[in-house]
Amino acid sequence: MSDKIYVTKPFLPPLEEFLPYVEEIWRNGALTNGGPLHQRLEMALAEYLGVEHLALFNNGTNALITALQALDLEGEVITTPFSFVATTNALIWNKNTPVFVDIDPVTLNLDPAKIEAAITPRTSAILGVHCYGNPCQMEEIRAIADRHGLHVVYDAAHAFGVHNEQGSVLARGDLSTLSLHATKVFNTFEGGAIICRDAAMKQHINELKNFGIVDETTIKVPGSNGKMSEIQAAMGLAQLPHIDACIARRGEIDATYRAALADMPGLDPLPKLYQTRSNFAYFPLLVNEAYPLDRDGIYDFLRTQDIMTRRYFYPLLSNLPMYAGLPSADPSRLPIANDMAARILCLPIFPDMTDGDVERVITALRLPLRQGQHWQGVLEKLSA
Ligand SMILES: *Cc1c(COP(=O)(O)O)cnc(C)c1O
Repeated sequence: MSDKIYVTKPFLPPLEEFLPYVEEIWRNGALTNGGPLHQRLEMALAEYLGVEHLALFNNGTNALITALQALDLEGEVITTPFSFVATTNALIWNKNTPVFVDIDPVTLNLDPAKIEAAITPRTSAILGVHCYGNPCQMEEIRAIADRHGLHVVYDAAHAFGVHNEQGSVLARGDLSTLSLHATKVFNTFEGGAIICRDAAMKQHINELKNFGIVDETTIKVPGSNGKMSEIQAAMGLAQLPHIDACIARRGEIDATYRAALADMPGLDPLPKLYQTRSNFAYFPLLVNEAYPLDRDGIYDFLRTQDIMTRRYFYPLLSNLPMYAGLPSADPSRLPIANDMAARILCLPIFPDMTDGDVERVITALRLPLRQGQHWQGVLEKLSA
């Protein structure tokens, strides 16, 4: 029929802008271990993002695991069930017990009003996620953490370049972590970073991502190997000059979707709250009763139109077999998260998406509305 439109497509800089960095790698012979391109990307990214101390990683999951290790977190960590599985997996790698707390029905981030009831003497930290790049209510979370002497870590995998009134949201919390994976707003093929508050912590993180090695004869702690390679850093350097244009194009698509959805009952995009600069990383909407199809119905229908949306984040982390047995995972304690996971849908959004692609998605979303309850007939006709 037509080309498939995926929920995202990695941004590739022009090849001729990438190759000079590759030639540089071949000239100087450094492939990894904090080489010159790695150093340049760390500096350039810190400046672009408006943060002081940033340590690059080979992926976002390793960055998050190392962030938890760097704070020596023990016992229980309060977190959200509405995220990508790497968030909770990182806690398990660090031998922490995830304690799920329900989400806010508007932001779909951790609900600060529900955190305190989950704190016990074993709680050591709050791990929030800026889901879809929409910031958590960080002031409320900080106040709770201060009252109870807890650390705050943000999985900011979605929040590259997002600002609020205080500046970069990445500069908040004790530590924040980024993913620079191919599917994220800014990519280094695979990649990640920890943003920290001071040079001593960055030094500690640099040791942890290099096996715990301090010097030739001193190995402090059992660190992992989280080092970003030079070829990954080359991708970041080639990509950085294009990032503003990429985010601007995402913003145009976001605006086009919002305008079109305004007169489509039952399809409600998430508002953009607590931010002064957005990155439009995702386009999440809630499928409500006023739409003729339920979430899985529209998801299946769009697939017949070669439009590959994603149900981020379904299934909920608390309902995965390895986490469902936790006392905090009981669906009766997480009613909002369970409801949202059944109604959420993310539409395609990426810098190379054409106006024609966007129109195709909008037209397809309108079809079931035109046909009212007779959508099943439409579906059969179209796929015949
Ligand atoms: C992508 C993602 C990660 C993991 O990042 P990788 O770079 O793929 O390891 C962690 N948390 C969230 C919320 C993510 O979306």
